[in-house]
Amino acid sequence: MVPVSAPSPFSEEKPRMKRRVSAGWIPPAVAALAVLPLAVLSSPAQAAPEVRDTAVVLVDFQDKRHPDAAAATAKAKEVFFGSGTSVAAYFKKASQDRVAFSGQVLGPWKLDMPAGCDTNRMRLKVDEQMKARGIDRTRFEHVSIIMPSGGCGWAGLATVGGGTSWMPDGYSAAGTIHEIGHNLGLSHEGTSVCAEGTLSGCAPAGYRGKTSVMGGGGPGVGLSAPALVKLRWHTAAERVVPTASGTYTLPPLYGPGRRFLDIPLTDTQNGDRLVVEYRRRGLGPEADVAEGVIVYLVPKGDHKKAIQIDTTPATTAKGSTPLAVGRTIKDRGITLTVLSQSAAGAQVSLLLPGSTPAPTAKPTATAKPTAKPTATAPTTVPTPPGGGDGLSAISAGVGVRPSTAARGQSVTVTAVCSGSGVTSVVSTAFATRRNLPPVPTVAWHPVIAVSAMARPGEHHVYVHCAGGSVARTSVTVG
Ligand SMILES: [Zn+2]
Repeated sequence: MVPVSAPSPFSEEKPRMKRRVSAGWIPPAVAALAVLPLAVLSSPAQAAPEVRDTAVVLVDFQDKRHPDAAAATAKAKEVFFGSGTSVAAYFKKASQDRVAFSGQVLGPWKLDMPAGCDTNRMRLKVDEQMKARGIDRTRFEHVSIIMPSGGCGWAGLATVGGGTSWMPDGYSAAGTIHEIGHNLGLSHEGTSVCAEGTLSGCAPAGYRGKTSVMGGGGPGVGLSAPALVKLRWHTAAERVVPTASGTYTLPPLYGPGRRFLDIPLTDTQNGDRLVVEYRRRGLGPEADVAEGVIVYLVPKGDHKKAIQIDTTPATTAKGSTPLAVGRTIKDRGITLTVLSQSAAGAQVSLLLPGSTPAPTAKPTATAKPTAKPTATAPTTVPTPPGGGDGLSAISAGVGVRPSTAARGQSVTVTAVCSGSGVTSVVSTAFATRRNLPPVPTVAWHPVIAVSAMARPGEHHVYVHCAGGSVARTSVTVG
C-alpha cells in the first residue's frame, strides 16, 4: 500500500531492506503481539499501563566502534527513556497511558563481525551475547541495536511486529519513535488523492498527511484513529460505528471524550471502511498536527493499511489534507459533510444508504430561541431523542462559512437533508432571503451574498427539508 516510488520521508527504509526484514525471519514476538493484553485496557484511567521492557544495545564491530561510549549511552537513554522527545514520552501520550516504556542501555558490546549492514546477523550476535551474559532475551518486548554508522542508506530499521530495531548512531528521536511504531505492528500511512469530493479515481500521493508519526508527520503528532484501532488504544465508546444517518459530534482525537467514526462501506462486499477523525493542536502528543477533519479509507477493514485521503487535491503541501468545513465527500453510498469545527469538536453530517430519516416536525416548531445561540454551532430543530453515545440522529443540518461576514460579502452554506431533500435556505442576512436549490438534493452548498442592507449582528440561517425538518445555525454580519 505504501508507494515506494513516491518521495518518502522514510529514506531510512529502502524497499530492499524492508522486504528482506519483513520476508525474513519471523520473530516469536509477532505471535505474542497479537494477544498483547492491550485489549483489556479499555480505559486508560482504570488500568495500569502495560510496561514494555526495552533493551537498547550499543554494538561495536571488529573494525568500527562508537567513538565515545559514554556519549552514546547518554544519547540512547535520552532518546528512549528521556523526558523530552523520546520513545517513552511519545507512546505514553499517544496511548493515553496504556503503555509505558522502560528498560536499560547496554554495551557497547563488540560483535564478532565486520561493520556493515547485515542486520539479521547483528541480531543473532546480540542474542548470543545476551545468552553469554546471562540476560534473558525473552523478557524484553523491544531490543534496539545502536550501531556505528555503516553507510547503509537508512536512518533506522525495524521489524513490523516483533521487537527488533536497528539504528545507526546518527539516529534521531523522531526516527526511533517511528521505528518502534513498526515494532508495535504499524505500517506506513500514505496519502491518496481522489477526484475531489469522492473516494474514486484515487492515486497514491506520498506522505502529505501531518497526522501520524507513521505518515511523515514527525513526533509532534499522535497516531491516527485507524492506528489506534489496530493497537486497540481506544475504548468501545470512542469508536463509533454509525448505523443511522445523522449529525455526529467528534471531539478531538486526543481530547477528553474523544470520538471517531468507523463506517462500514456497504456498496461492495469487500469490507472497506471509512474512518473519520478530528485533530486539534495542543492535546496529548498533538503539538504540530494538521488540524481538521481527516478521512481514511481502510481497505478490507484492515486498519493498519489505512490510507489517508487528501481531500483537497488542489493543495499539495504537507498537512493540507483535512476536509474543510462545508466540504462534502459523496461516494461509495455515503455522503459526509463537515458542518462546523471548534476547539470542542467537529460536527459532521453522515448520510448512509437505506437509512430511515429521523422523525420530522413542522417548520413552525422553529420558534425564536430564548437564549442566544452559542457561536455558530449548527443547531437542530427539533431536538431528536439522543443516542446512547451522546449522538443524535437527525434529518437536517446546516453550516455557514465563514461564520462572520461583511455586508455584500458571500458565504458558503452547507445544507443537508437526510432522506428527503433541501427545499430552501433562509436568512434575514442574505440579499435573497429565501434560496432554492436548482434541483432537489440531499446536500447543497450554495454561495450566497450577504445583503448590503443587513443589520449588523447575528442572524439565523435555516435549512428547510422536504420532509419537514429544519436545521438552524447563525451568521454574524460584521
Ligand atoms: Zn518506516
